[in-house]
Amino acid sequence: MWEELKGRLKRFIPEESFKEWFESTEEIESSNGRLLVGVPSEEVADFIKDYYWDYIVKVMKEMGVEEEIDFVCKKQIPDLKEEIARNDMDLIKKRIEELNLNPDYTFDNFVVGPSNELAFATCKAVAEEPGVNYNPLYIYGDTGLGKTHLLHAVAHRFCEIYPDKKILLVSAERFFHDYVSAVRSNNFPSFRERYRELDVLLVDDIQFLAHKEGTREEFFNTFNDLFDRRKQIVISSDSLPGDIYQFQDRLVSRFKWGIIADIQPPDLETRIAILFKKAKVFNLKIEEDAVFFIAKKLRKNVRELEGALKKCGIYANLKKSPITVEIAKESLKDILEDEELITPEKIMKLVADYYRVPVSRLKDKNNSRSIVVPRQVAMYLCKQLTNMSYPEIGRAFGNKHHTTVMYACSKVEEKIASDPRFRRLVDSFTQSLR
Ligand code: ADP
Ligand code: MG
Repeated sequence: MWEELKGRLKRFIPEESFKEWFESTEEIESSNGRLLVGVPSEEVADFIKDYYWDYIVKVMKEMGVEEEIDFVCKKQIPDLKEEIARNDMDLIKKRIEELNLNPDYTFDNFVVGPSNELAFATCKAVAEEPGVNYNPLYIYGDTGLGKTHLLHAVAHRFCEIYPDKKILLVSAERFFHDYVSAVRSNNFPSFRERYRELDVLLVDDIQFLAHKEGTREEFFNTFNDLFDRRKQIVISSDSLPGDIYQFQDRLVSRFKWGIIADIQPPDLETRIAILFKKAKVFNLKIEEDAVFFIAKKLRKNVRELEGALKKCGIYANLKKSPITVEIAKESLKDILEDEELITPEKIMKLVADYYRVPVSRLKDKNNSRSIVVPRQVAMYLCKQLTNMSYPEIGRAFGNKHHTTVMYACSKVEEKIASDPRFRRLVDSFTQSLR
């Protein structure tokens, strides 16, 4: 989208200026109504906003797009490297140890693909320039998709660049325990010192605070205090802020002040790249065919992928062989059997037969009422009963967008909750598929 926009902007901007300000900008990601554009520096972003914004708005109108535009600074890697090299290695090491970081959870070990690009880019930006671009940064995604990995990576990178500044990475559970013990021992000053005198605070799995009213309140205060002083806050969660319904609106709206970046299950190419990367990290020899085989079979989350790889590694080790397709098949037998049983085709056939519509109509573009419900039900069942990701389900239904699938699933969930007859129907589909 940005490329097209740039092309159209050329009509309004003299060539020299265009070169100066726009040539090195590029689209990083566009999703959920937001377009993220990488720029070489803060100044460029400011200049574009100050002088060219009206043209951008005009061109967007012309193109009929309504995305919000955010700029992110791609700090040049070479000067960052120099900066890091100037820092005291011992001090960096010490900081990393104090923080208890997993040494493998770095940006270098994180494989970037369309499913996690935005989360990766924003995490990197806040590690390099905390408190400037995205505050707070809210990362959300299902379990096993790399949230904790990214938070550790932020901490690693931040320590390398700013070893003398203060950062803290905690789970929300840890925050809760610290708060409870501060209450118990009546020792707030040291609690406040730990959580407020910071340049960066990273809190993992914030959904843990959903039912903890007192701690939530304290978190809110901590948040405000840091935020007011332009300190960086990064939060991870398995849900969108608005979906954790115990969170009061005021907290939810705070989270929306910054940026919300989601992580989706990785597509096939990314899964392949992750397996190669992990094989290297774990020092395992694996044949290319075996990588493809595993990546095709396990689709839902990276933790599972990693577990499968380790399992194959143990087996291969016993056989004193690299991991081959045979070894992978043998060692993953149990996991794979469960998976193969239910396919989107079977689901579509069952649902289409029940509603008396042809299977092909579930996949076409028609949105009439008679087809929307069966299609939504079939999509929901795919999500529940297979390991497929939203984008994969979308593709199985004639290339629908993943947000369409997400919408379908939430619609069906709503209906299940409010309509017992409908719930029984969906249950009966599930039973006959299993
Ligand atoms: P979450 O916190 O979202 O549940 P984790 O960060 O614990 O997930 O990730 C689970 C495992 O998957 C970790 O070992 C992590 O290193 C790995 N992982 C997840 N995403 C990626 C990725 N894009 N590249 C490399 N490893 C990944
Ligand atoms: Mg985690």
